[in-house]
Amino acid sequence: MTQISERVQSLSPSATLAMSQKSNELKAQGVDVINLSVGEPDFNTPDHIKEAAKRAIDENYSFYTPVAGYMSLRKAIAAKLRKENGLDYAPEQIVVSGGAKQSLCNVVLSTVNPGDEVVIPTPAWVSYVEMVKLAGGHNVLVPASIEQDFKVTPEQLEAAITDRTRLIIICSPSNPTGSVYTRDELQALVDVLARHPQVLVLSDEIYEHINFTGSFTSLASFPEIADRVVIVNGVSKAYAMTGWRIGFIAAPLAIAKACNKLQSQYTSNPSSIAQKAAEAAYDGPQDCVEEMRVAFERRRDLVVELAKEIPGLKVNKPQGAFYLFPEVSAYIGKRHGDTIIGSAGDLALYLLAEAHVATVDGAAFCAPGYIRLSYATSDDNIREAMRRIKAALAKLS
Ligand code: PMP
Ligand code: GLU
Repeated sequence: MTQISERVQSLSPSATLAMSQKSNELKAQGVDVINLSVGEPDFNTPDHIKEAAKRAIDENYSFYTPVAGYMSLRKAIAAKLRKENGLDYAPEQIVVSGGAKQSLCNVVLSTVNPGDEVVIPTPAWVSYVEMVKLAGGHNVLVPASIEQDFKVTPEQLEAAITDRTRLIIICSPSNPTGSVYTRDELQALVDVLARHPQVLVLSDEIYEHINFTGSFTSLASFPEIADRVVIVNGVSKAYAMTGWRIGFIAAPLAIAKACNKLQSQYTSNPSSIAQKAAEAAYDGPQDCVEEMRVAFERRRDLVVELAKEIPGLKVNKPQGAFYLFPEVSAYIGKRHGDTIIGSAGDLALYLLAEAHVATVDGAAFCAPGYIRLSYATSDDNIREAMRRIKAALAKLS
């Protein structure tokens, strides 16, 4: 028998990627599936970024790069942080990795010891709790329901922190809910964190630019906690570059050094060509970012309007990212023919089988009773998907 480590056995596979694969398999069999499962922009990478990558190949950017990424890219990221976020980071505090996912995992593995507690407001993106499990840490989930717009209160945060809390992972704009904490709401959480100096703050800012509130506040901009905030961001969402795999951290020097050491042993550097493309993204014109943001906002309005017409779906009005996270408990316990809906996961499977629409079970985001819809797709797809969902749900009784 081949031995698989307990570490990997205890890990759940990424539910977002699994559902997307299932949807692609059905598509390959000729089924007309609308994929609202995986969250990635449906736009092509802007041309000036693609040109930079082509040039990088011709100019022989084909050798190992520094582990933390080319100095020119780290300078471009530092300039972005200064210009867009008003933050001062030296290139030595920036580590570029193979996507924000690797950046997050580097930080968790570099800072969490077995038994340490990690506070995670939920609903939370699928990979956080799994990364904490990999590090041997203990997940402390802090649930926020749709009634509180999926945002945790300062009282909830205070109650979750103990002497053993090492890290908190905050994501705003949020995957999977699209909720965005206002500056005042962040300040209230920061006031709590300021009382607990042992807690490091991992701020996942990957949806910074897909934001419909008109302003974005980085947690690193609060002086009370700035010296223990790690920013994670990257090019995947803002520049429609999910496949290029470039993310970064901006961190206190000791953490940047630890991530650099870890990465040196297990991936070396992120792709040299993708790094040059990312450099062009940060240095180049930013109109493409705004154009995509505007499209996502229009689609948000459309999907919310259509979802509100479906009886039994409870929705909020997401202020960012490209997800809708309806509460579906009205359908739990219902059936169609032999199919019994025992959970939101069953409902997601039913919608795939009956409506040929792929969504994701909220349980994957530590929020049973909900499903996630990614509306990063065309207006026509959104209309057709919502029409099909409405019809399939109407068959349940
Ligand atoms: N954080 C969140 C909240 C995300 O939604 C994603 C995308 N799945 C990531 C991190 C990882 O992004 P990347 O593609 O850069 O690894
Ligand atoms: N942001 C995407 C999602 O949540 C990426 C998939 C993943 O990395 O899990 O669907």
